[in-house]
Amino acid sequence: MTDKLNLTEAEWLEKLGPEKYQILRQAGTERAFTGEYDGNKAQGMYKCAGCGAPLFSSDTKYNSGSGWPSYYQPLDPDAVDELVDRAHGMVRTEVRCAKCEGHLGHVFPDGPAPTGLRYCINSASLDFEEKDD
Ligand code: FE
Repeated sequence: MTDKLNLTEAEWLEKLGPEKYQILRQAGTERAFTGEYDGNKAQGMYKCAGCGAPLFSSDTKYNSGSGWPSYYQPLDPDAVDELVDRAHGMVRTEVRCAKCEGHLGHVFPDGPAPTGLRYCINSASLDFEEKDD
């Protein structure tokens, strides 16, 4: 998981388009209840919209009522990086993709069992791949 994807800012903007660029590369936040995956209940894998790395399984997704897709844990602890974020007068824990360092969202200590964590993730930072069986 340590092979980093490094692009220039111009290359990211070209690859992602302005909306996803603003969230993934400039730590933006989509408006609550507007994202594509908030209400998605299908089984499958949520991958990084920046680099395609698998990040969250639908098995750990739950309805937090926050208006953003929420998971109680990442697919693998090494799939994401967690950093202290002191922006906007708050101390929060930012969640980034470990491979491309794209901003995903934040993690809060008010989630359900078994972890008690809520990974609150922007839909725009994710690409969903439905499981076909
Ligand atoms: Fe990524």
